[in-house]
Amino acid sequence: MESRYSDEKAAAFLDRFASAGEDVAMRVYTSQLIGGDADLVMHGGGNTSVKGEFKNILGETVPAIFVKGSGWNLDSIEPPGLPGLDLEYLKKLRALDTLSDEEMVSQLRTHLFDASAPNPSVETLLHAFLPHKFIDHSHADAILAITNRPNGEELVREIFGERVGIVRYVMPGFELAKVCAEVYEQNENVEGLVLLKHGLFTFGATGRESYERHIELVSLAEDWLREEKAKGRRLKETFDAPDPPEALAPEIAPLLRGLLAEATGDPDAPYKRMVLEWRDSDEILDFVNSAELATLALTGPLTPDHVIRTKALPLVLFAPEFDDPAEQLGHAVTAYRRAYDSYFKSMIYQKGVERVRLDDFPRIVLVPGVGLMAWGESKKAARIAADIYEHTIRVKTLVYATGEYESLPESDLFDVEYWPLEQAKLGKSKPKPLQGQVAVVTGAAGAIGSAVAQSLIEAGAHVVLSDVNAERLEATCEALGAKYGRDSRRGVVSDVTDERSVEALFDEAARQFGGVDIVVPNAGIAHSRPLEELDTDDWQRVMDVNVKGYFLVMREAARLMKKQGTGGHIIAIGSKNVMAPGAEFSAYSASKAAVHQLAKVSAMELAKDGIRVNVLAPDAVFGDDKNPSGLWDEVGPDRAKAHGIEFKQLEEHYRNRNLLHARVTGRHVGNAVVFFATNQTPTTGATLPIDGGIANAFPR
Ligand SMILES: [Zn+2]
Repeated sequence: MESRYSDEKAAAFLDRFASAGEDVAMRVYTSQLIGGDADLVMHGGGNTSVKGEFKNILGETVPAIFVKGSGWNLDSIEPPGLPGLDLEYLKKLRALDTLSDEEMVSQLRTHLFDASAPNPSVETLLHAFLPHKFIDHSHADAILAITNRPNGEELVREIFGERVGIVRYVMPGFELAKVCAEVYEQNENVEGLVLLKHGLFTFGATGRESYERHIELVSLAEDWLREEKAKGRRLKETFDAPDPPEALAPEIAPLLRGLLAEATGDPDAPYKRMVLEWRDSDEILDFVNSAELATLALTGPLTPDHVIRTKALPLVLFAPEFDDPAEQLGHAVTAYRRAYDSYFKSMIYQKGVERVRLDDFPRIVLVPGVGLMAWGESKKAARIAADIYEHTIRVKTLVYATGEYESLPESDLFDVEYWPLEQAKLGKSKPKPLQGQVAVVTGAAGAIGSAVAQSLIEAGAHVVLSDVNAERLEATCEALGAKYGRDSRRGVVSDVTDERSVEALFDEAARQFGGVDIVVPNAGIAHSRPLEELDTDDWQRVMDVNVKGYFLVMREAARLMKKQGTGGHIIAIGSKNVMAPGAEFSAYSASKAAVHQLAKVSAMELAKDGIRVNVLAPDAVFGDDKNPSGLWDEVGPDRAKAHGIEFKQLEEHYRNRNLLHARVTGRHVGNAVVFFATNQTPTTGATLPIDGGIANAFPR
């Protein structure tokens, strides 16, 4: 590992954050250096501090410590992420014998200089009790690969000599802060502290010194590991998969997703679902296909705070039966849940504490031949769990090559998983109505499709946008990603008239998010021509996209939803034309009538599986500059002719013919999709008009 410190960059940070003062600006720079390396810290892990001064409102200068605040990641931290606290007061706390976590948090909050600052790190007192100006803390892979062994302490001494103090495992908080200060005071010449099965602290008089000591010590560990690995053991590959991982993953994922959905007992929100992040790098496949999988995977995490994201143990599906995996998966999940339950019960009994039990579902599932399947309540949570587990695989493989892995005992892991400070967060954030759900929208680059996708994302769903036009699809995905984040959506180019292409679309939904809960068949075309002038080819083209396309999408949706076994929604975009057709519009109107009937019959067939099928009947949804309507661009001029008006008068014509004189937008259609998808009413087989009120389309 090389130092990435540059005087030029440091100067740029000092310049950019000059108003925060030199100390904090430098702290921001080297914190970002530490945070930018995933081998050092990941996703909010690690913390840093700097000691300096603070000028209060009376103009007095008081000693201060600025330490990483919660909610900030080191790789992108800025001055507001380093709240300042009264250093003199914090140092006095060391005289106490004990300090509970809750009281510690309260003491930290009440000694901030800014009442609106984020909570400072739970390791703040550790930083405060050490005298150095700059302190850097990471959970570096190489340090964990050295310390997570039965002989970890000896090895640390062998590799670092007297350059570091060694601290036994203590959970972060007041006690750890005191223990670290005591270890430091035994030898004040040390450059850092190695916390067994936790990580590394280094310190220095300048930001550069502390950072470069960090890099140097981690590099020493890396060098030792590299040398030992060269002469060490290798994993033996034993599993031979029948198909490539990308073919097996969509077979396994929906079954697993169904098994990992928590039944709530509420008929209007029957399941709490999770979202998948699937990975199959060579390193992961070597691990899951190895003879050593059981020995290595069924050991605890690298460092206890990983349990929050990954739970203590993964679910491992040994010798998967790919021909018919449902039963085997069911047994494996049941066994995992039972084991988790008994772990929880035995821990609260042994410790004599009361805790709110967390769900008993695995977050990491390892499947030979398939790879790593990480699950979370959102794609982001799943991705974070996957990132952590990828590093876990790397470190465990490295330790296997060079010695024996040892994690903390269950009891220490439980203390972190059921930490009162974590328990206090439970139930605080209200999930969005479609959290954990996955939607597929076809024709998603168009005016209606893109608006529907947007409404679904805003309601918390992850959306697979499908369109036949790759360029427009990319632009739509780009715009949604910029607004709602990269995890909110995926784009898949597909042709709804091609059976294989539709199957591939749903396979991709399973690979990207684990399955699907809401399907919105929407891709459609229109053609305007008097009957006697209508070409057979044009008729067929409309039927292929609007009828066969809807049929193929709905059939795949039903198959995938049945595999999950957790119900779902098909919300087909129909048309007001079914109730009130337009002249010179026979192909389109007939195709939409077929969709209408297809949906009603599907509603009858799929109700027993908890799958609801409803139809939306919008009238004349025009696009705007951002989302032009391909359909209107194509048929607009002919429809205008059929109505005996100019093309540019068309939108106004449609608005004036409805009772409310409403301009119907894609977002109105999106609202209706969300209405059905959130089970607001027990409705299936229905058609909801979204047309501003068209009297001649009223049911009769
Ligand atoms: Zn830590």
